[in-house]
Amino acid sequence: MKYFIGRLRSRPFIDFCLFAIAGAIILAVFSIVPQSRFGANLWNLSNYVFPSIYGSIAGGLLGIWSGRLRRSLHAQTSMQERYHDLFENASDLIQSVALDGSVLFVNRAWRDTLGYCDSEVSSLNIFDVISPDDHHQCRQRFESLISGGVVNSAEVTFLRKDGCPVLVEGNVSLRFENDQPHSLRAIYRDISERKAAEVKIHQLAYYDKLTGLPNRTLLQDRLVHAIADAKRFDHHLGVMFIDLDHFKKVNDTLGHHIGDLLLQEAAQRLRDSFRENDTAARLGGDEFVVILSGYRNSVNVPHIAQKILENLARPYTIEGHELVLSGSVGIAIYPQDGTNADDLLRNADMAMYAAKGGRGDSFKFYSESMNRNAVKQLQLENGLRHAIQEDQFFICYQPQVDWESKRIVGVEALLRWNHPEYGLVSPDKFIPVAEETGLIIPIGEWVLRRACKELKQLQVELDIELDLSVNLSGIQLEHPNIVEVILNALHESGLPSEQLELEITESVLVERTDQALKLLHEISSLGVRIAIDDFGTGYSSLSYLKNFPIDRLKIDKSFLVDILHDTDNAAIVETIIAMSRNMGLNVIAEGVEIHDQVEFLTDRSCPLMQGFLFSKPVLPSQLKVLIEQGDKLFE
Ligand code: C2E
Ligand code: MG
Ligand code: MG
Repeated sequence: MKYFIGRLRSRPFIDFCLFAIAGAIILAVFSIVPQSRFGANLWNLSNYVFPSIYGSIAGGLLGIWSGRLRRSLHAQTSMQERYHDLFENASDLIQSVALDGSVLFVNRAWRDTLGYCDSEVSSLNIFDVISPDDHHQCRQRFESLISGGVVNSAEVTFLRKDGCPVLVEGNVSLRFENDQPHSLRAIYRDISERKAAEVKIHQLAYYDKLTGLPNRTLLQDRLVHAIADAKRFDHHLGVMFIDLDHFKKVNDTLGHHIGDLLLQEAAQRLRDSFRENDTAARLGGDEFVVILSGYRNSVNVPHIAQKILENLARPYTIEGHELVLSGSVGIAIYPQDGTNADDLLRNADMAMYAAKGGRGDSFKFYSESMNRNAVKQLQLENGLRHAIQEDQFFICYQPQVDWESKRIVGVEALLRWNHPEYGLVSPDKFIPVAEETGLIIPIGEWVLRRACKELKQLQVELDIELDLSVNLSGIQLEHPNIVEVILNALHESGLPSEQLELEITESVLVERTDQALKLLHEISSLGVRIAIDDFGTGYSSLSYLKNFPIDRLKIDKSFLVDILHDTDNAAIVETIIAMSRNMGLNVIAEGVEIHDQVEFLTDRSCPLMQGFLFSKPVLPSQLKVLIEQGDKLFE
């Protein structure tokens, strides 16, 4: 009964009744008015019966239909309002962007987060709010979506109107209209706080709170990676265990606060003693570990250890206290002193105890032979300081030949050191030490001036033209006066700049400092040519080459070894030759020792060669004889 009464009071029933009554009245009136003209009796109720019945049926039906229509319109409007409400009040940033990037609409969270008001949004292009660093990636995403790709979760940095970055993460999708791509819709979450929290957690988990250096956990991780890299690239790796001598005394006498400040300062000095890709970590207390990675040989390690000790030993002024500190350093080298992280750390630790057991303020290698080498190394370093003044250097020249014309077309100047005690020392041993100590600057200048002078003299004596290649260290390219040094060497000797070539290693390209790039362009503008030495060993890529004013690549001698049978080497050499040709570069192969290599190179159109097959590096007097003999070199 209740249900029945409810139905009677419902809106559709009322609609039905109202429309039925209205229909009955309207049809009755409409039917009786025409009849009344012909004399029909308006008071005769039977005249109204049928029109009222038809009218009420039609009205009722119309009532039902209009009720439905009204209800559906109402439902639609309220759905739209709900969606708009959801869209506007969503906490995520929602945006719709036309294919050219102009912003179509955004929600309130978007406007509030990025600081724009309603009227400003319509004139924005989405790239006005995306950080310039992300433009390229975003354009790629746009293009990928338009060409049918899928973009899953995307991270973008937006810039607020006041310039502050806001990191967001979300999904982007493409909208179609009439089967044509129309616009891009995206829903983003602001993840700046989450990212900041992640960084903080990472900092707490992996870094030492006091010094900001990596902690034991991160050290272990970095060491494992460094060992894997050393294995892969056949590099050396050094692990240094550093303990501060008598640090406990500072804590006991001046208190922990001063001790902490001293540790912070010592950590900073350690940081300053290494290259950026070396890792210095604090294990706890006054113990630090340093990983020296990516070295081609371990000759520099004693020098680095010495530098650490000197840096640590400089006096400290902490809150008015003048303090002096020293350290003990133990060194283990991969692979000879251990091939895994635990062994290397343990052995470096043992070596550190041996250093401390002496008088402190010293370093020790884990292996005895390395200790002996280290002493020699430091002696070399001291010896190098006097080598120029004591006239211990001289230059040998190795011919570079053109196999096609069977002529010597140039020579490479190679430095030699006649050590009073050790005799002839190889440049592979002393050049890294000279670089590490900065002595390469005066030594390099000496080589340039002497080589230009000797070659010009030879040219005049023999009345020939001959190119000169001189090796230039990356360190020299960090010194702005290198251009002046080159100009002076050319001027003094009278050698034309087009006859001088400077060989730089790939590491200069990889490290690619602005200074080096600028200087290379200046050098090149003098007419001096630039060659990349030992090409193929230094992980440089084509993209690096394009930025440098390079004239020639020198294929490293290691790739010529067993070239007829080693398919990898053959493929590398072939690729370098083809690549040089494509880039319009000259190419020369070094380390040619046998005729098979000559054949391989000439078959691939690389007629320029240098190597023992033609001649070892020789003194200027011997070079003169070689040139005079001419063809003998090619027999
Ligand atoms: P580099 O510039 O790649 O010089 C080529 C090295 O390969 C020279 O060694 C040369 O004697 C050697 N070599 C040439 N032909 C052959 C061959 O057929 N077979 C073999 N096995 N070796 C060959 P060197 O003279 O011992 O020089 C070693 C490195 O020392 C040079 O490599 C260069 O990087 C550096 N160096 C030499 N002189 C200087 C210099 O004045 N300044 C600088 N910065 N570095 C120099
Ligand atoms: Mg060279
Ligand atoms: Mg070379």
